[in-house]
Amino acid sequence: MNKTVLVTGGNRGIGLSIAQAFQAAGDRVAVTHRGSEVADGLLGVRCDVTDEASVDAAFSAVEAEFGRVEVLVSNAGITDDTLLMRMGEDSFNRVLDANLTGAYRVAKRATPGMLKARSGRMVFISSVVAMMGAPGQANYGASKAGLIGLARSIARELGGRNITANVVAPGFIDTDMTAEMTDERRATILAGVPLKRYGAVEEVAEVVRFLASDAAAYVTGAVLPVDGGLSMGI
Ligand code: NDP
Repeated sequence: MNKTVLVTGGNRGIGLSIAQAFQAAGDRVAVTHRGSEVADGLLGVRCDVTDEASVDAAFSAVEAEFGRVEVLVSNAGITDDTLLMRMGEDSFNRVLDANLTGAYRVAKRATPGMLKARSGRMVFISSVVAMMGAPGQANYGASKAGLIGLARSIARELGGRNITANVVAPGFIDTDMTAEMTDERRATILAGVPLKRYGAVEEVAEVVRFLASDAAAYVTGAVLPVDGGLSMGI
């Protein structure tokens, strides 16, 4: 059956691919943006996940158009890499606010509608860095690890109402975010990836779609790596 799906940060990168995968399956798909264009066929709603009022307004806009959000994909995220010794508290807090508190804000806003319907799916986009850490990413790694605790708490709290909460942990995927890395860093990373290549956005999107599908009805609190084997370690 077709679903109403909201993808934060669905205007580009992994979020856009996730939105398009649901769209191709015939779902009603809304994406948040911060002033940019959105792809054809998607409902664009302006939203900054660091602002509770903005999150509320975005959900209200989706509800007015499509009805309650049945599948929430919390994908919006940022990096602000620097070594710990140079990392200001502002940088740490900014990344936590967007990546972790932002996910809390959207999950909380999605919950009443899901509770009422006694059904819902939440998928949080974390990162391989949550488990492995990465130099220069103390802020990002902490935020992405926090998503696992957030999702698993939600899974326990809302499981009795048929609401699942799962985490997808991508490895290195070709997007604007990874394009910023130096060739040297790319080569170092690829050396540790058993599949010896970067992932494609579509390969993350299909896993998210699976977690929102009927086939995954009994999957909750899971952390699914989509990383070419990187997180297995050496
Ligand atoms: P991009 O940098 O390409 O896109 C990030 C998206 O998040 C954009 O849509 C951006 O909106 C949105 N966003 C950022 N801050 C906010 C905010 N405050 N409010 C609302 N939206 C915001 O990243 P990717 O597509 O690569 O990454 C998507 C997710 O996947 C992120 O959570 C990232 O951490 C995670 N990830 C990515 C990996 C990779 O290899 N690329 C690996 C592991 C995890 P705008 O266009 O307005 O800036």
